Amino acid sequence: MKYAELVGVYTQLEGTSKRLEKTHYLSEFLKTIDSADLSKVLLLIQGKVFPSWDKRKIGVAARLLLKAIQISTGIDPEKEWKQTGDLGKAAEQLVERKKQVTLFSQELTVDKVFENLQKLASLEGTGTVDKKVKLISELLTSATPLEARYIIRTVIEELRVGLGEGTIRDSIVWSYFAKEAKVNYDKQGNNLGIENREEYTKYIDAVQEAYDVVNDFSIVARFAKQKGLNGLSEIKLQSGTPIKVMLYPKAKNIEDAYSIVGKPAAFEYKYDGFRMQIHKNGKEIKIFTRRLDDVTTQFPDVFEFITEYVEADSFIIDCEAVGYDRFSKKYIAFQNISQRIKRKYDIEEIARKFPVEVNVFDVIYYNGENLIKKPFSERRKILVSMIKNPEYLKIKPAEQIITSDESEAEEFYQKSLDAGNEGIMVKNLSGIYKPGARIGYGVKVKPTMETLDVVLVGAEWGEGKRAAWLASFIIAVRDSETGEFLEIGRVGTGIKEKADEGTSFGQLTEMLKPLIIKEDGKIVHVKPEIVIEIDYEEIQKSPIYSSGYALRFPRFTHLREERSPEEITTKEEVEEIYESQRGRG
Ligand code: AMP
Repeated sequence: MKYAELVGVYTQLEGTSKRLEKTHYLSEFLKTIDSADLSKVLLLIQGKVFPSWDKRKIGVAARLLLKAIQISTGIDPEKEWKQTGDLGKAAEQLVERKKQVTLFSQELTVDKVFENLQKLASLEGTGTVDKKVKLISELLTSATPLEARYIIRTVIEELRVGLGEGTIRDSIVWSYFAKEAKVNYDKQGNNLGIENREEYTKYIDAVQEAYDVVNDFSIVARFAKQKGLNGLSEIKLQSGTPIKVMLYPKAKNIEDAYSIVGKPAAFEYKYDGFRMQIHKNGKEIKIFTRRLDDVTTQFPDVFEFITEYVEADSFIIDCEAVGYDRFSKKYIAFQNISQRIKRKYDIEEIARKFPVEVNVFDVIYYNGENLIKKPFSERRKILVSMIKNPEYLKIKPAEQIITSDESEAEEFYQKSLDAGNEGIMVKNLSGIYKPGARIGYGVKVKPTMETLDVVLVGAEWGEGKRAAWLASFIIAVRDSETGEFLEIGRVGTGIKEKADEGTSFGQLTEMLKPLIIKEDGKIVHVKPEIVIEIDYEEIQKSPIYSSGYALRFPRFTHLREERSPEEITTKEEVEEIYESQRGRG
């Protein structure tokens, strides 16, 4: 299949902001794709060459791309990059200019583009820069200007065609089940009304459920095309492939929590550690973070607890690993143990220094059975029965009570805080497990003034003695509707000058450098990837930032490396905090 066909759809998608039109374009396109190309097309249409849970990442810095563009077009793209602010468009312009002088071009195929981009991920270490440049410039040499735009954007993982997961899901229904699901729409993608909402929803739900368990649209589309609706239910949850974790909105207090989850409810300690999704399949054990990164090698202690204390042939469990002080045995805040997540050397030593206790709070899969749709109360029973001789400071079910009584709940809340936890979780006893969703089957209640998790979208180079560092960071929250990141201010306070005092300017600079996608004088714009936690005095309305809000005295508190940008504070949450603080005097 020609890459140009795919590029045709990219431009259609980019050309409209209307979701129905996007669904129309994508579904019409999918109809034309044969099974052999379907997986690759589904990944590429999302700007990916690996499913999101895959360990491999393209990982190419803007600098390297500049070089590749220069080699293939013979022109330094720096100027065009500055002008357009979009490296994809810069490449497009230069390829255009070059094409006017050369005629030679070999037509690009989806296979070729996919293959080269995947290869980029397999190259690591010194001496690979040239090979990477070669893989990219080889594509650019054969690319049309438009193709160049999207190749570059795929490499920097910024496709900018505005395609959300919901739209892909709907497009799969529209292309493979249009008749059965009774989807009616005109050529412009205007929906002429769904004839039978119930029937339509059945198909949407089936595709969503299949996606929830495999986390990969390329598999879902293939099953939908080849096997129809019943085939979708053949997609089974499998131990070994991570699924998105369920998320919990915040409740104001216990009364509010009850009103969301109902009575009676399960109350659990909210441990201040980090989430682990642990999979076992026969002898194989895998540990994933909430971003679905595989951290099995970093946690030999947890591996051992699982082998020793958990009885089952296969399972997927959801846990919070919480750090404790090895001398006083008291829980310690997450930041103390966060360094274990990325540690590549001296793993045993750091595991001894910063031990963790694993608190299991959910089970999603057990001995071949998918428990996603089982009520929480049943999942909890299974979870308790799986852990033999639970042991304090090793592995145990999360502390829990079930009650309808507010004062009993308050008491438990206090007990949890006294034990050094962050708060409590309040859960609906009949709630299902909904991967990736923040719906109210469980809520969190914590006493502290809400900090914000924000993503870095840019930064400014410092002056004077800070000239070698990025010194002021542009932060953003997320619009949960569109997935867009909206700026809410800048932060520089709280970051250290010396690396041994905490997170430093130097460290953040090194983290951001490979993510730079645009440079504008002293300001750089970066791929939204690094999540941090910030503190502030107050939230104010502000016309300056795209979120419509600004922070008074924002202060950096921690890196939140285990969090993905999809999980950060939303604009709606900022609004809520803004409203609630107005009563604080
Ligand atoms: P937050 O990180 O503030 O959004 O709160 C939700 C997080 O609390 C989850 O993602 C877990 O990592 C963590 N957590 C700690 N204890 C529990 C528990 N008993 N049940 C569910 N999540 C918990």
